[in-house]
Amino acid sequence: MTDCIFCKIVRGEIPCAKLYEDDRVISFLDINPINPGHALVLPKNHYATLFEAPPEELHACIAVARQVARAIHRGMGADGLNLIQNNYRAAGQLIDHVHFHLIPRSVGDGFFT
Ligand code: 5GP
Ligand code: ZN
Repeated sequence: MTDCIFCKIVRGEIPCAKLYEDDRVISFLDINPINPGHALVLPKNHYATLFEAPPEELHACIAVARQVARAIHRGMGADGLNLIQNNYRAAGQLIDHVHFHLIPRSVGDGFFT
C-alpha cells in the first residue's frame, strides 16, 4: 500500500525505533506511547485488520510479540504487560495495517485497568 504509514516504515521511507525485524515481521516503538516501552508488532505485508491477515502471518507476529514482550517487560522493569489489537474505528484502530500493541504496565499507572 503506497500511502500506508506502516508500509512506509517497512520500506524504510519513514524512520522508526526498530526493535526487531525478519522476513515477515517488524517491531518498533510507538511514536506516541501510552507508557515508556510501548511497542508495535506487525506483518510486513499489508492487511487492514485481523480479518484480512492470513493465520500464518498472525502466528509469526505473535511469536515475535512474545519475544519482544519478554524483553520489554524485563527491560522496563514493568509490573505487567498488555497485548492489544484494535480493529476498525469503533475499537480505536487508527492505522489500517494490522498490528499488535505491547504496553508495559506499572501498578497504579492509571491506564484502562
Ligand atoms: P491503533 O490506534 O491503530 O491501534 O494504533 C496505531 C498506533 O500507531 C498509535 O498508537 C500511534 O501512536 C502509532 N503510530 C502512528 N503513526 C506512527 C508512526 O509514524 N510511527 C510510529 N512508530 N508509530 C506510529
Ligand atoms: Zn500497510
